[in-house]
Amino acid sequence: MNNEKIWLSSPHMGGNELKYINEAFAENWIAPLGPNVTGFEADIKEYLTSEEIGSLEVAALSSGTAALHLALILSGVERGDEVICQSMTFAASANPIVYLGATPIFIDSEEETLNICPDQLEIAIKDRISKGKKPKAIIAVHLYGMPYKVDQIKAIADKYGIAIIEDSAESLGSTYKGRKCGTFGDFSILSFNGNKIITTSGGGAMITKNSETKKKAIFLATQARDDAPHYQHSEIGYNYRLSNISAGIGRGQMEVLDKRVQGRRNMFQFYVNLFRDIDGIKVFTEPNDDFHSNHWLSVINIDETKTGGVNREDLRKCMESENIECRPLWKPMHMQPVFNKYPYYGTGIAEEMFKNGLCLPSGSNLSDNDRSRIEQAILNCLKNIV
Ligand SMILES: *Cc1c(COP(=O)(O)O)cnc(C)c1O
Repeated sequence: MNNEKIWLSSPHMGGNELKYINEAFAENWIAPLGPNVTGFEADIKEYLTSEEIGSLEVAALSSGTAALHLALILSGVERGDEVICQSMTFAASANPIVYLGATPIFIDSEEETLNICPDQLEIAIKDRISKGKKPKAIIAVHLYGMPYKVDQIKAIADKYGIAIIEDSAESLGSTYKGRKCGTFGDFSILSFNGNKIITTSGGGAMITKNSETKKKAIFLATQARDDAPHYQHSEIGYNYRLSNISAGIGRGQMEVLDKRVQGRRNMFQFYVNLFRDIDGIKVFTEPNDDFHSNHWLSVINIDETKTGGVNREDLRKCMESENIECRPLWKPMHMQPVFNKYPYYGTGIAEEMFKNGLCLPSGSNLSDNDRSRIEQAILNCLKNIV
């Protein structure tokens, strides 16, 4: 068997990406606008739209982080405001809050989906209001593709009249009660970074419910140029539009999105089978049929009291020595040096998951040979560490 590196999550091209890029070259659309950008937006819109949702609008942007930044601006977040954010997530969910001079308020996870805990969310909202400030927005994340508890979170947001920004960076192709992730927020964002379920090498999108908001997002994303023959600006703008070359990759990737979701779900099923009879290791699974994850990353939880003492770091390091990349879960934001001064509401569930959770190679491009190497390595590691 070869010993090439097996990655956690690597790009998986479909084949037609180069066709769209070649068109861009042939037409000289080498710019942050053009037919691929418009086409990519239309592809995403068609994918997400359903009768239940009605119409929605898609703005293709340079990254998921840029999409979050604009979503916060369009939610009216300003200097001195407070914004609630799930603590267990990638830093990109929280960074744009601080770009705006606002304060992140971090919330623990619940155990079933690893996402924002409804109980702690409501405790936090009440406490912030009692301190004189109602949070301006809630950033809720579908971590690793697993939908958050959409109905419960929305009920709380509605009760207090707070906007939801749905971070769907990891969950394109997931559904909750049959409806696609990316359609639940007042604003939703997607990411097409290189490690995500589909990629444009780097890119993102913002999903909104109406065309006026989309127009405003694109206005801000293209340096906020007023309608004038000269360059005139009445607002601060950004350079956040997606390039026509990257969007070409995105169009090719949208053609194979369903296959990519199936590929990731097959990896998840592989791990379910592999760990079925192994004590102390649980594969993180949908709590019930309302939840359907794209399983962007497969996650296990290790109980070292039942594995004969093997813990998460033991297994991660052992796999690394076999040239197989595994990673701890996202380190919660309230534990991060750059964020630990901000308020946090929780009971330690995210901390526990961070301590014992491990992400396993999950790419849709892994081969049978890769799977046997992973299986052998895991079984050997569990046998030989202690
Ligand atoms: C990847 C990611 C982002 C940011 O997306 P970029 O396109 O890399 O800027 C935001 N939130 C989460 C949860 C992510 O995983």
